[in-house]
Amino acid sequence: MSSKGDELLFSKLERVQQTFAEYLSEATNLAKQVNYVLDRLRAIVYSNTENKIKAISRPDPKTISESIANIIEKMTSLLKIQQDLLQQILNECSQEKVQCDTCSGAGSIKEKIYVRDEDSINEFYQDKRCDQCNGLGFLQTTKPFSEQALIMLHHLIDLYTYDMQERTGK
Ligand SMILES: [Zn+2]
Repeated sequence: MSSKGDELLFSKLERVQQTFAEYLSEATNLAKQVNYVLDRLRAIVYSNTENKIKAISRPDPKTISESIANIIEKMTSLLKIQQDLLQQILNECSQEKVQCDTCSGAGSIKEKIYVRDEDSINEFYQDKRCDQCNGLGFLQTTKPFSEQALIMLHHLIDLYTYDMQERTGK
């Protein structure tokens, strides 16, 4: 048994997976930049011709530094997106309902209507009941889906627990 709620939650979980893949790719790039720094430092510690040639072929320290700053910014932002997304999904799974993505939980959407009077056409917005969630603002998920997703989510969210304690502790 599946539901529209399960489908929506599934697509959110796919987004979580995607952020992990993006994070991994940034981490790989970071390791590469750190390697460039090591290549340059190696030529100072062990100053032979081979190491010197290798060091010269690496980007200059300023370029490496800028790259590292960019990568860290992306990784930090990915972690924040991940954390918010996971917290949201965790709450949704616990309640076995997911916020409607069509009306963002409002239950209604603004619909533009045009009213013509004698010499002009005026635009108005009126509230229209959201068809996706029947005005509820959320979609029901099934118990099997929510329960299985929760098993994973409880552990994933632990990734950020330490970080959160650090922040609130200071
Ligand atoms: Zn809705």
